[in-house]
Amino acid sequence: MQTDIIIIGAGLTGLTAAFYLKKKGENFLVLEKSATYGGAIKTERENGFLFEKGPNTGVVGTPETAELFEDLADRVKIEIAGDEVNKRYILKNGKWEALPAGLWEGIKTPLFTFKDKLRLLGEPFRKKGNNPHETLAEMVKRRMGESFLNYAIDPFILGVYSGDPAYLVPKYALPKLYNLEQDYGSFIGGAIKKGFAKKNEREKKATRKVFSVEGGLANLSKALYESAGTENFLFNAEKIQVQPQDDFFTVKIIHNGKPISIQAKKVITATGAYALPEILPFVPKEQMQKISSLKYARVIEVVLGFKHWEGMPLTGFGGLIPHIENRDVLGYLFLSTFLKNRAPEKGALLTLFMGGVRKDYINDYSDDKIKKIVENETLDLMKFTKFKPDLFKIIRHKQAIPQYGADSGERFKAVEEIQNSYKGLILGGNLKDGIGMADRIKQGKFLSEIFE
Ligand SMILES: Cc1cc2nc3c(=O)[nH]c(=O)nc-3n(C[C@H](O)[C@H](O)[C@H](O)COP(=O)(O)OP(=O)(O)OC[C@H]3O[C@@H](n4cnc5c(N)ncnc54)[C@H](O)[C@@H]3O)c2cc1C
Repeated sequence: MQTDIIIIGAGLTGLTAAFYLKKKGENFLVLEKSATYGGAIKTERENGFLFEKGPNTGVVGTPETAELFEDLADRVKIEIAGDEVNKRYILKNGKWEALPAGLWEGIKTPLFTFKDKLRLLGEPFRKKGNNPHETLAEMVKRRMGESFLNYAIDPFILGVYSGDPAYLVPKYALPKLYNLEQDYGSFIGGAIKKGFAKKNEREKKATRKVFSVEGGLANLSKALYESAGTENFLFNAEKIQVQPQDDFFTVKIIHNGKPISIQAKKVITATGAYALPEILPFVPKEQMQKISSLKYARVIEVVLGFKHWEGMPLTGFGGLIPHIENRDVLGYLFLSTFLKNRAPEKGALLTLFMGGVRKDYINDYSDDKIKKIVENETLDLMKFTKFKPDLFKIIRHKQAIPQYGADSGERFKAVEEIQNSYKGLILGGNLKDGIGMADRIKQGKFLSEIFE
């Protein structure tokens, strides 16, 4: 068998790359280990509920995301979340407090200490940091104060990375924030200046809007898969191994128990870092170790559906629970509040997360124990008198979210070196370039253009 380009992995990254390669009329084949496409994205319907078993919502944070939906307009419709998403709650001392959206709310909020609120006035004048490996926790304490770290940044990081601000390094994990300080000397001043900066039409497509897809995110994967040409995918491709030859690659796989060998001029990997030692056995161990050492958060996602909601009013995007509050749930998303047709009328669909990097041990709890914790926490936090969900799903993600820590620079260097040594081999996927769906779409499109 022969082809021009092989993509390994049919998650959002690989699917986006495949879609744009097809548009350019390229000859390619996507090899996927599992039986279907979509990777982390999984949507299901049951008992009157439409729910996700992976990511729930993304942010239209890159022009490529808006453009992908434009390019797929005849097959899939983006769903922009209602304005309710602008209201977000943070738990403090067991009580939900609204995250301030403006100056007056910011002054009044009990989330941050009076001292830190005063200190924030001096943020634009504080000295610029010069340690590229400074952790997020160090950076926020230095510029904003501990209460902002505990009750704004920490829950935000739990919501996005299920991670630890004392491990993540802003240069790699939050480059936009890092660059605000580096380019403008201040988060606040930089954000204001950037807000007033002139943007071209394309840049304007990147927004803070929260999106899903009508009928669920799996409809996006399906649209990409079908538009990329279903004949260009091989599922259940096991034990994939790439071997570089003179000016091409031999890719060996086991398919339906039989060995197959495919020759390709170019190979793009779009898997997590953990898959690469097996896929690229020719890369020296030490070099590969720098890549495959990338830590992934383990996360438990629990989907809760109620046909008749009797808890507190679910007005908002959801509620996040700072680590310092010492609870067993990381946060709730009030999905049926801001997305359409997710639960029966008068009902509610919520998703909650548990575990993550800082409470990793929870990932080892049995389903029964998880159920008990969810019941106790939800009764208390959602102000229920009885806990009788009509839908209850526990989804365990063993390699959910990559954690971009201080070792990221070494990792990116190793990736560059491998790509330079083996021309035609490109290492994509979430080991670099961001963890969110918008980042994955941006990288997927870039991968389709890399050999131009
Ligand atoms: C629980 C959870 C919640 C999330 N929440 C959000 C959110 O709210 N917003 C947001 O923007 N993002 C969120 N994300 C992140 C988002 O889902 C991912 O960034 C995106 O879906 C990853 O796409 P990908 O294609 O890079 O990787 P994946 O989806 O992981 O796809 C990789 C593919 O490679 C395949 N593969 C792996 N190993 C091999 C191998 N050896 N051979 C062949 N194929 C292989 C896998 O089977 C898979 O299909 C969440 C992720 C998780 C897990």
